[in-house]
This record gives sequence, C-alpha cells and structure tokens, in this order.
Amino acid sequence: MKLILLGPPGAGKGTQAKILTDRYNIPQISTGDILRAAVKDKTAMGIKAKEFMDSGALVPDEVVVGIVSDRLLDPDCTAGFILDGFPRTVPQAEALAATLSRMGRDLDKVISLEVDPEALVERLTGRRTCRECGAGYHISFDPPQKDGVCNLCGGELFHRDDDNEETIRKRLDVYLQQTAPLISFYERAGILSSLDGLRSIAEVEQEIQHLLQA
Ligand code: ADP
Ligand code: ADP
Ligand code: ZN
Repeated sequence: MKLILLGPPGAGKGTQAKILTDRYNIPQISTGDILRAAVKDKTAMGIKAKEFMDSGALVPDEVVVGIVSDRLLDPDCTAGFILDGFPRTVPQAEALAATLSRMGRDLDKVISLEVDPEALVERLTGRRTCRECGAGYHISFDPPQKDGVCNLCGGELFHRDDDNEETIRKRLDVYLQQTAPLISFYERAGILSSLDGLRSIAEVEQEIQHLLQA
C-alpha cells in the first residue's frame, strides 16, 4: 500500500496515518515530524527550516524532497508507506513521481480529506502532541484520559508553537495557494479519492477503510 494523505493543516492526516500504520504495518512518513525532530536536534537542516516553520511558510522544496527521497530507500518502506504532509507543492509531487519511477514503484491512492477552514482553526488550537512518542490528541474531540499526559507512554503533551490562530491562518492560505492544486494534479492521474473529513475520527477511519478495499 503506497498512499498519500492530502489535506489542509488540521484535516486529520496525522491521526489517520497513525491508525493506518498500525493496521497495515507500514510506516508513516511525516515531513512535519522529521523537520521538527531536526529543529529539536539543531541540525543544519533544522536551523534553516525553523524560520519557515515558525512563520507558517513552506520549507523549500529541495529540502523536503531530499528528506523523502532518502526515507523511501529505508527497508521498512518496501511493503508500502503513508505520506503525511508531503507533497505540498506541484514541484514536490513531480519530484516524488520521478523518485518512485526510478525505484520502479508507483502510488496506489491519494486520499484527500476535506474540512472547512473554521473547523480547522478549532482543531489546531485544541491539538496536543506527545513530546515522547508523537501521539496526537485534541482537548475536546480526542482528549487524553489524564489532562496533559499521553495515554500510550505517559509523556507530556504540548501545544505546537505554530498552532496559534495567526500562524494557522497563514498556513491555510499557503495550503490554498500551493497545496490545493495537487487535488487536480492527482485527479488527472486517476488516483484521487476525496472524503468528508468533518466527520468523527472513527467515521473517517471507516471511510478510508472502504476506499482502500475498493
Ligand atoms: P493534520 O495531520 O492533518 O495536520 P491532525 O491529525 O494532527 O491533522 O489533527 C488535527 C487535530 O484535530 C488533532 O488535535 C486531532 O486530534 C483532531 N482531529 C483529527 N481528526 C479529527 C476528526 N475527524 N474530528 C475531530 N477532530 C479531529
Ligand atoms: P500541519 O499538517 O499541521 O500543517 P506539518 O507538521 O505537516 O503541519 O508541517 C508543519 C510545518 O513544517 C509546515 O507549516 C511547513 O513549514 C513544514 N513542512 C512540513 N511538510 C512540508 C512540505 N512537504 N513542504 C514544505 N514544508 C513542509
Ligand atoms: Zn506518548
């Protein structure tokens, strides 16, 4: 299963990717997670990426294309993978197609999660993430059993700096201008399925399950 989850920030890509990872035993490749780890470790790439991320802009294409091309060579990607948050621009999608074609592979499906902007602001301002294992929660829609503590590992939950209303609005603009064109890009390729991402986490999970069995 070689899959892309497409959608605006807060659409539920990470949440669904984690569910699919467990079900199909294939890795989630989240460029956002990889970049945040680089920022935390203060690598050269992290130092460069931080400014873009803090302002809600996209990190340059060549940086993320390099990350994903390397990651796809790892042995755990042989059975498949779930790309979450990549590609985000048409040049990234073209680079991905070239990389996969060099590897003799191609994508099975692109699932686009559709959620309107107001719901996204509420989702992102209420998002909490585990500092230790990266699990995601929402203070109202998917709360942890114990306030501020991860159900899975007991780690501390934190609120991302870029999940403030001003940066969220900027990220939504960036999505509309640079990422939304990928919907027609993959429609033309004949591998796009869109679904209503406004429904509950469990309902979206079921719908994805149907799509993948079709
Ligand atoms: P993305 O990876 O697309 O940016 P996330 O999966 O991190 O989005 O979800 C954003 C926030 O919304 C998280 O707090 C998550 O718990 C919550 N969330 C995800 N899917 C749903 C859903 N279907 N209904 C309500 N809240 C959701
Ligand atoms: P979300 O899905 O909530 O918007 P991510 O964790 O996917 O957030 O991304 C956080 C930030 O990391 C983005 O705002 C952007 O600066 C950077 N980023 C992640 N993926 C990419 C990508 N494919 N291309 C460019 N920048 C990216
Ligand atoms: Zn945890």
